[in-house]
Amino acid sequence: MIDRDYLKTLAAYHNERGFMLTVSLSTSRLDDWRQTAPTFLNSEFNRIIKERNPEKEYKRILEEDFQRVLEVLNYEVEQRTQGLVVVADGSQGVFEHLQLPLRLQNRLIVEPHPYIRPLVHAMAVMESFLVVRVSRDESSIYLVDWWQLTREDSFEGPYLRSGDRETGEAPVKEYYAAARQESLVDQHFKDVGQALDRLLEETGVRRVAICGQHEIAVKFCRQLPARTNAKVVAEIPCDASASLNQLLVAAREAIYDARIGEQSRLVTRVHEGLGPQGLGVAGFDQTMQALALGQVQILLVERGHRPPGCMCMQEGLIRVTEEAACPACGGPTIYLDDILGEAVRQAILQGAEVEVVERVDLLHDMGGIAALLRYK
Ligand SMILES: [Zn+2]
Repeated sequence: MIDRDYLKTLAAYHNERGFMLTVSLSTSRLDDWRQTAPTFLNSEFNRIIKERNPEKEYKRILEEDFQRVLEVLNYEVEQRTQGLVVVADGSQGVFEHLQLPLRLQNRLIVEPHPYIRPLVHAMAVMESFLVVRVSRDESSIYLVDWWQLTREDSFEGPYLRSGDRETGEAPVKEYYAAARQESLVDQHFKDVGQALDRLLEETGVRRVAICGQHEIAVKFCRQLPARTNAKVVAEIPCDASASLNQLLVAAREAIYDARIGEQSRLVTRVHEGLGPQGLGVAGFDQTMQALALGQVQILLVERGHRPPGCMCMQEGLIRVTEEAACPACGGPTIYLDDILGEAVRQAILQGAEVEVVERVDLLHDMGGIAALLRYK
């Protein structure tokens, strides 16, 4: 399972000679990967060995690591897996592999650090969330983690409690007595709200979707504590014929859309904060500078934007252009497949937040990378 600490551990691995192997692959049946993946990997691996021409000892270690990757592919990929990531460096005994319920692009990278950007994106996409299905009769809270329902809490409302659960028939007198007692319904909403509050506290979940008739959802949300209400980012219509799974998928999509809206506002905020007085920076060099100074609170990178570049092997300076020798110190450089991946890695290492931003043109105009700073 990926969490922030695990990503941080991965981000810290370093091979001084630049021989850290990262493989990411789609293992979705849709991609016919058992046929295509080994061919792709072999050709990429041979190309890189040829280009980099490592000394005998390092070549042997890389080849062993590569064989282990192929073994994982042959024997260890589970049915449900859609994406696989392996990070390997036999010279340090590093061999990590992760299987995800999410398709990934095929890549084989040999660089000084693991390429963790796809994992950071996967973690955001598979973010845990809560769904509250609320009604006057009966409400439930669902916890979805890694696209799996992992917990369900149910709450009876006053109507059910006063009726006959077996037959569903409520004695008329009691029914009307309860119906008049709106306070009981309020109490029910309050109970669910408190449970939601506790669950948010306990799980650290950041986003909640509400499912119910609109006026009931509004009423329910109105009585939530402000900090809990702030986490309700989506409302989905209540469809009595939908299965629980359909409900959870609809919630996941609504939360995803809400995230994109949040990202768009964040990009605007950073854009407004550009300039000497503000807390925004944009563009690769400025953002890397802010990262080097530990100023970054939230790093924003544009999804799918992967400019190549090079890194100085002596001091780690990264440039957008490919140069054989470092313009600053004259030392040797290494080709980087995606320099934004290195920005993401450094942000994770520092404990900064990372947003992989989708469908926000303004970020593209700002160079595909920007940051909100803690201070200046
Ligand atoms: Zn240098």
